[in-house]
Amino acid sequence: MTTGSHLSPPLFTAPEIQQRVDCLADDIARDYGPADFSVVSVLKGGFVFTADLIRALARRGVHPVVDFVTFSSYGASTVSSRNVTLEREFSLPVTGRRILLVDDILDSGLTLNAAKKLLYDRGALDVRVCVLLDKKARRGIPMTANYTGFHIDNVFVVGYGLDFDNRYRELPDLVALISDTPA
Ligand code: 5GP
Ligand code: MG
Repeated sequence: MTTGSHLSPPLFTAPEIQQRVDCLADDIARDYGPADFSVVSVLKGGFVFTADLIRALARRGVHPVVDFVTFSSYGASTVSSRNVTLEREFSLPVTGRRILLVDDILDSGLTLNAAKKLLYDRGALDVRVCVLLDKKARRGIPMTANYTGFHIDNVFVVGYGLDFDNRYRELPDLVALISDTPA
């Protein structure tokens, strides 16, 4: 356990998440129809959500190309001054392709903005964004997702792929990490 903080009861339980992932897969399957597209999963936080989402798509007869991209951000003084750098680029061609970017959470919007720009720079035909969580209050730049699992308040969440210091990704539920020090 991380010193000085504790985990809240679930904000969303594993069955609630699965239900929502199924709804998102319904929407995506309906919108893309039989068209070919690529899922580009944003690592590391997006890996559990992506794994569940692509299997929900498979149950609906949808079988996209799957690729991964990794960004890191630093300079955390203010949300809008953070730098987002590309750590590992996707490995498959994107030119002329329809892309569904999948990430854990839309927070400041900087990561997904950088990812979208990179994909269009590489010649993608169309880029849509699917996030499990949206923390709208924290947005630093205009950015909206095409598919959103849940809207949440400004709390720091872990579990279901989301980490604190690379821990808690394995938790099946989404919970808040709460500081024991009064603000
Ligand atoms: P951005 O601020 O660029 O929209 O989001 C950057 C990244 O910060 C997200 O992809 C996610 O990995 C991380 N992040 C933002 N909010 C949270 C949160 O509440 N919990 C965790 N674990 N990560 C977060
Ligand atoms: Mg992330």
